[in-house]
Amino acid sequence: MPSDLPNPSDKRPHSLLEDASVLIIDDVPANIQVLAEALQSDYRVKVATSGPEGLAVAQKTPPDLILLDVMMPDMDGFEVCRALKADPLTSRIPIIFVTARDTKEDEETGLMLGAVDYISKPFHLPIVHARVRNHLMLKRNADMLEALAHVDSLTGIANRRRFDEVIQVELRRCQRNGQPLGLLMIDIDYFKQYNDHFGHGMGDRCLAKVASTMANCLTRAGDLIARYGGEEFAVVIPGSDLAHARQMAERLRQAVHDLHIPAPSTLGTPYVTISGGLTSSTPDADTTATTLINAADKALYAAKAAGRNVICD
Ligand code: GH3
Ligand code: MG
Ligand code: MG
Repeated sequence: MPSDLPNPSDKRPHSLLEDASVLIIDDVPANIQVLAEALQSDYRVKVATSGPEGLAVAQKTPPDLILLDVMMPDMDGFEVCRALKADPLTSRIPIIFVTARDTKEDEETGLMLGAVDYISKPFHLPIVHARVRNHLMLKRNADMLEALAHVDSLTGIANRRRFDEVIQVELRRCQRNGQPLGLLMIDIDYFKQYNDHFGHGMGDRCLAKVASTMANCLTRAGDLIARYGGEEFAVVIPGSDLAHARQMAERLRQAVHDLHIPAPSTLGTPYVTISGGLTSSTPDADTTATTLINAADKALYAAKAAGRNVICD
């Protein structure tokens, strides 16, 4: 057979899922073994032998799918399912009950709790396999949509929706931990004139270049840069004091200047530049995202008034 023709027996439809992970929660090791043996050639399989252990594993590294037994001592599968659905970290993980409890009422309970499927024992392994694969494919599509919903299509960095979510999460975290939260608002200088002079297409390319350059300057995992709107960007900087946030903002400003993107000749400055407004403080109980945005915006206004290509706080 020529090598470029697909071999009907190969696992190609599965290959997109080869990174997928499945967590099996069952108190009977023999049950785990049967399922694990059937699935581990295609997926990364993790196991837990009690409800609390399963919850801990799922919270630590959320799997793509959970196969969940119902009858377990301590905490039964229905309780585990409720706990998983109540936690934002694990609520999106599809759950399939695999159980000897096969009454209509049990199945209804499981599905009403938010499980995607219900498999009664004794099961037929190829059917378990097919159901697992189908639900993993749906999960993968949902993950891709979720990721796309958070990305700005022109610049490839996080979008406003993502920014709104992250600032809320970081604000609460910093309020709890008593850590400082920094916010930097950035605006490209004289960008209307750039568009008027070079055209909107060049303007778009300039925006994308400025965005990716700034994104590459961020070195800490917790920092997030997002397109806030138009030619404005926002950087969320959790856990660093004002001095550190200033250094970071200055790095971004310098990096954009150093791109040496020619500015319109009428401007009197040779290159495209950005201005930034910075705020950083430990939020108290009354601090809201709007408080931070207003403070950063005020500082940005000052940076524009100071002649642009500067960071103010
Ligand atoms: P300033 O230095 O005060 O910020 O001046 P400015 O000209 O940058 O400010 P203004 O807010 O008046 O203009 C922003 C311009 O950004 C106008 C708008 O056409 C342009 N812009 C916003 N979004 C996009 C975009 O997605 N693509 C392009 N090409 N231009 C955009
Ligand atoms: Mg603007
Ligand atoms: Mg501008």
